[in-house]
Amino acid sequence: MSCISDAPESSDVKLYGLIGEKLGHSFSPAIHSIIMQKLGIKGCYHLFEVERDSLSRALDGLKHLNIKGVNVTIPYKVEVMEYLDEVSREAKGIGAVNTICFREKKAYGFNTDYYGFGMMLDKMNVDLHHKKAVILGAGGAANSVVRYLKDNGIKEIALVSRNKDSAKCRFKDLGIYGYEEAGLLRSFDMIINCTPCGMHPDIDVCPVPPDIIGNFSYAIDLIYNPSETLFLKYAREKGLTAANGLYMLAGQAVKSQELWNDIDIPGSTADEIYAQSVELRVKNSRF
Ligand code: NAP
Repeated sequence: MSCISDAPESSDVKLYGLIGEKLGHSFSPAIHSIIMQKLGIKGCYHLFEVERDSLSRALDGLKHLNIKGVNVTIPYKVEVMEYLDEVSREAKGIGAVNTICFREKKAYGFNTDYYGFGMMLDKMNVDLHHKKAVILGAGGAANSVVRYLKDNGIKEIALVSRNKDSAKCRFKDLGIYGYEEAGLLRSFDMIINCTPCGMHPDIDVCPVPPDIIGNFSYAIDLIYNPSETLFLKYAREKGLTAANGLYMLAGQAVKSQELWNDIDIPGSTADEIYAQSVELRVKNSRF
């Protein structure tokens, strides 16, 4: 739990959190502490590990706990939508929710990953026009990434999945490939890892072999722990422009705080949060 408050027992301390299956890897409490400190928000950010068959009961419990809001992470960003009272038009279009606001015992779903991903691309100075992207994995994060790329001028997207039939049903207008076909995608500019492959603690795996990564100019890994996954190490060794998911995490967290507290936070704040997160990470080897 991470708390920012002079008087933790006082009733103006707001409760926030993260729901997901396994949260030992999460940097969200640290990021939200930094944001709350910077903006003078008195709050506590808890980690709520939820078992696979308990999501609906967990949400019901949260509705009754006077919590302002939670983030949602792997593997619940898609499934959680069916248990919410309302889902924003944007999140419906994306097909995933990563931020929930609780108001008067009702749960409202939003998607801020979309914005976080866009902020990361801006930070990398990537112009999407005329670019072609390969996405690895067909989960909740892939939904946000695909929507952002389409909304911002990408020329073509190919999606690589372990389960082509299921991916074809969800991403009807994309080229869907199996991992054994990923080597064929040679004319593409960027490769984006939207799988948890390589995430702490399973850091010795990479979703695709290094020779495939070498076919691209840009590599983005949504994973931020470890800061350099094997995927990004191979990308660096092959000379690609590469980035991990920490800037995206900072961007989506800032947007979540805007929704929970009904405030506007200047765009430059994500830069400051990111810089402080990197500093904190250097000091604290756990992240
Ligand atoms: P998710 O909904 O569980 O989906 C992940 C997808 O990855 C799965 O649907 C699956 O796609 C594929 N996958 C899962 N395990 C795999 C494995 N062992 N090998 C190969 N592919 C595998 O998770 P998510 O919410 O999309 O998150 C995906 C990753 O992005 C996580 O590491 C998460 O931490 C990260 N993320 C980071 C940020 C950020 O702010 N930086 C934001 C969102 C997500 P197929 O079945 O199609 O192969």
